[in-house]
Amino acid sequence: MTDQSMQFQAEVARLLHIVTHSLYSQKEIFLRELISNASDACDKLRYAALTQPDLLADAPDLRVILTPDKAARTLTIADNGIGMNREELIGNLGTIARSGTEAFTTQLSGDAARDVNLIGQFGVGFYSAFMVADKVEVTSRKAGEAQAWRWTSDGAGAFTIGEAGDAPRGTKIVLHLRKEADEYLEPQRLRTIVKTYSDHIALPIRLDADSKEETINSASALWTRQKSEITEDQYKEFYHHVAHAFDDPWLTLHTRAEGKLDYTLLLFVPGQPPMDLFNPQRKAHLRLYVKRVFITDDCEDLVPSWLRFLRGVVDSADLPLNVSREMLQHNPVLARIRQAIVRRVVGELEKKAEKAPEDYAKFWGNFGAVLKEGIYEDVEHRDRLMKLARFRSTHGEGLFSLADYLGRMKEGQDAIYTVSGDSLEGLQKSPQLEGFRAKGVEVLLLTDAVDDFWLNAVREFEGKQFRSVTRGAADLATIAGATDEKKPEAAPTAQLATLVAMFKQALGEAVKDVRETDRLTDSPVCLVAADGDLDMHLARMLKLHKQLEKDSPRILEINPRHPLIRRLAERAGEAGAADALSDVAHLLLDQARIVEGEPVPDTSAFARRLASLAEKAV
Ligand code: ADP
Repeated sequence: MTDQSMQFQAEVARLLHIVTHSLYSQKEIFLRELISNASDACDKLRYAALTQPDLLADAPDLRVILTPDKAARTLTIADNGIGMNREELIGNLGTIARSGTEAFTTQLSGDAARDVNLIGQFGVGFYSAFMVADKVEVTSRKAGEAQAWRWTSDGAGAFTIGEAGDAPRGTKIVLHLRKEADEYLEPQRLRTIVKTYSDHIALPIRLDADSKEETINSASALWTRQKSEITEDQYKEFYHHVAHAFDDPWLTLHTRAEGKLDYTLLLFVPGQPPMDLFNPQRKAHLRLYVKRVFITDDCEDLVPSWLRFLRGVVDSADLPLNVSREMLQHNPVLARIRQAIVRRVVGELEKKAEKAPEDYAKFWGNFGAVLKEGIYEDVEHRDRLMKLARFRSTHGEGLFSLADYLGRMKEGQDAIYTVSGDSLEGLQKSPQLEGFRAKGVEVLLLTDAVDDFWLNAVREFEGKQFRSVTRGAADLATIAGATDEKKPEAAPTAQLATLVAMFKQALGEAVKDVRETDRLTDSPVCLVAADGDLDMHLARMLKLHKQLEKDSPRILEINPRHPLIRRLAERAGEAGAADALSDVAHLLLDQARIVEGEPVPDTSAFARRLASLAEKAV
């Protein structure tokens, strides 16, 4: 059968163009990427062989062999792992198969210099081979299958695929090196690269050169080594490998437990948020090993989803080696390891929060919104997570804890005030904050989608209730604060009562109530949700996601000290006022909606009223 030629997926072609033309200086990372793939392939085979031992039978010792050939100017990387069949070669090496590479392509800007830097940040997996090779041949035979296949490409838009003759199990990649890539034919250079990037790989990496073969890495799983024997760079490289990430870890946690439960953890908190952090699946990514055999990186029960940003390895000696993925569900050993992970990680975060608050603020910026899901979901750890939580507030720049807030509460203040919305800038302008500002009462500014949910679930911290400033009545009168004298005079009570009655009459069902408030200083009116109703931001979110069909009408609050309201109150007592004030009432309601970012239900009525009012004014 002759070879078949196929086009790369458009994204791959674009990626390859950047890779092959890039002036990226650290081209040596191609070897790290290919060895990492080989190691994954061997892990996969070892796992498959737990249930199908035959797969391993003909070559049980898994390894990678690097063979430089100076005469042919090729470097060959051969593993005896799981291998790929025809479909897999086409699918994996002709399309964007992995999240890391996908992340890379979605970040591409078209600006060459910037995009080249991204190669270092994301890595481009297999395709990095084209940084050093102008032709790549991949021969692969999948474990358990008889037919081997050869994939060939010069990286310029197309590849060919065809049958290969006899081939051992696994994948052999032959790189035909570019002129300027001679260094990768030098055994010493290869040793150095492997030591630098791939020493932690648990698989022997062998160098076949100068007619001898030797193992050039430590070939022991990094997490099984003593902490004292591991350098920070080695941890970092290992993180890059397990996380498919290229940032530096923010926190590295390496511990071993022996006794009742026997396990090793090597966990990382990334320095940058991973791309899939807010995917709806909220998947965790820890890799589970049993006595150094890779089992799965897709185990729901290993870590709660509010710690899904963790990367790294859990190696247990207490699970049977032939544990199936199904058996892992509701497994008591796993449940205890999970508890230990949560305890450790939360403990480390507490230490950081106390000893290195600035560094902790960086973590919070990246993952705070995820940790807050724990406040909502994990009753057991709720209190500790609330203490770890940091907030923006009207107090000023920076992140504050709830303890900071409690320390600044005013005399007579018995609640922790919050306001939630989509952006900090938007919240800063909320009219509902005016009265609190004027009294110097701090309000937490909440902008994460999860905030409304945990607030509903938690309700209080150290005996102080959380209270939204956009829901229920404001109780500012009881709080000691800045002087009241400076305030402008309020409209007389009787007039105000008439005005309120007229507004209610005019607005009818459009509002739940109309009432005066001391929450406002500069604005004439604002909207709030009634006590038993959903807070307004939450209602808007639910509506947006079609989880709420119709929300309850709001309460229109009016500021009795505002010149406009005082004037209207004066008018309210006069004959024939009701008709004239009806338009104003509707306009003020629509104005309050607009300030909230809510739609005006009847825009043409709004326009008509505004025009009529403007006409009278000029
Ligand atoms: P990644 O390795 O991050 O998934 P790559 O582009 O490097 O991304 O590889 C794409 C896919 O090709 C891998 O996910 C894997 O399924 C397959 N693959 C690559 N190298 C090998 C190999 N040596 N053996 C078996 N499969 C491989």
